[in-house]
Amino acid sequence: MAKRVYNFYPGPATLPWEVVQEASQGVLEFQGLGLSIMEISHRSKEFDQVIKEAAALVKELLEVPDHYHVLFLQGGSSLQFAMVPMNFLPADGTADYINTGAWSKKAIKEAKFFGNVNVAASSEDRNFSYIPDMRQVQFTPGAAYVHITSNNTIFGTQYDEFPNTGDVPLMADMCSDFMWRKFDINRFALVYASAQKNMGPAGVTIAIIRDDLLPRIKNDVPTMLNYKIHAEKESLYNTPPCVAVYVVNLMLKWIKNRGGLGVIESTNRRKAAMLYDTIDELSGFYRGTVEPANRSHMNITFRLPSEDLEKQFIAEATAQDLVGLKGHRSVGGCRASLYNGFPMEGVERLVNFMREFARKNG
Ligand SMILES: *Cc1c(COP(=O)(O)O)cnc(C)c1O
Repeated sequence: MAKRVYNFYPGPATLPWEVVQEASQGVLEFQGLGLSIMEISHRSKEFDQVIKEAAALVKELLEVPDHYHVLFLQGGSSLQFAMVPMNFLPADGTADYINTGAWSKKAIKEAKFFGNVNVAASSEDRNFSYIPDMRQVQFTPGAAYVHITSNNTIFGTQYDEFPNTGDVPLMADMCSDFMWRKFDINRFALVYASAQKNMGPAGVTIAIIRDDLLPRIKNDVPTMLNYKIHAEKESLYNTPPCVAVYVVNLMLKWIKNRGGLGVIESTNRRKAAMLYDTIDELSGFYRGTVEPANRSHMNITFRLPSEDLEKQFIAEATAQDLVGLKGHRSVGGCRASLYNGFPMEGVERLVNFMREFARKNG
């Protein structure tokens, strides 16, 4: 067996070992066809089945109604920052954005190329350590849409409840917590997530779009950037990233075989709780960086008493095969990313290491 460390990287991120093994088989030979998944035509019936099955599994696991399309796009969540306003924000229109951190800011920057942006709420006043209370937000009447970032990968905050935007379409960057649990897709007009955090390798972005949005798309959108084209062509307008779609398909089957999103959610909650409980129990040494009510289940951020101790902590953890614990370069500190593919044993190993480290250095 290959050497395997516990991978806390924020993305690309750890995948279940079963998925990695199965993907490696498909890379050698796909379905006994005498060719690799890297070599197969995207128009072949075998690949067609892979991409259709992946879309169907997203629908099944999230209970997505028939009046939505599941799309597989390219360009990452970063291209979605531009595609959303390019398709849906008229030059004289206004879109409401909730600013909860670095990724929200990037989304806002792109929207400003197309129309007016109203930052309806922000948590920048306290360095993005919380999620603004959605019941207090005044949304723009008749806005083109409202955009949120459901999980803030860098700062470690996550929405628990989503805003109620009435008739205004709600859109979400769910890049770092897509399918960490079941959520009510009916609240949303569009959600998107590049796969490399929670759902697969880099190279493909999953989007779910409500059909009534398609006729609203502006008529000056280039073909490759137009959601309607990708919906009509069932994500096969051009060559999709076949390998990435294949691995997403395997990941979806893995979720289904474990019992679906209910089981995934309870495992994810137990993993995050184990780590937060340790941080709180040793609060004289470790310090969580966000409001407890808004803590992310995916990216757990914490500090140690000094930057020197943080460096030592990360170095000693790495030596014990606990890798990727450094916080984002813009905020420092430590961050453990516990996505769907991250195993419980890795969290146990980390909290044992944290106890030991605090005992020796506290
Ligand atoms: C990683 C991330 C992105 C950027 O994704 P790319 O695939 O690199 O474009 C956007 N939003 C959030 C919340 C992320 O975590």
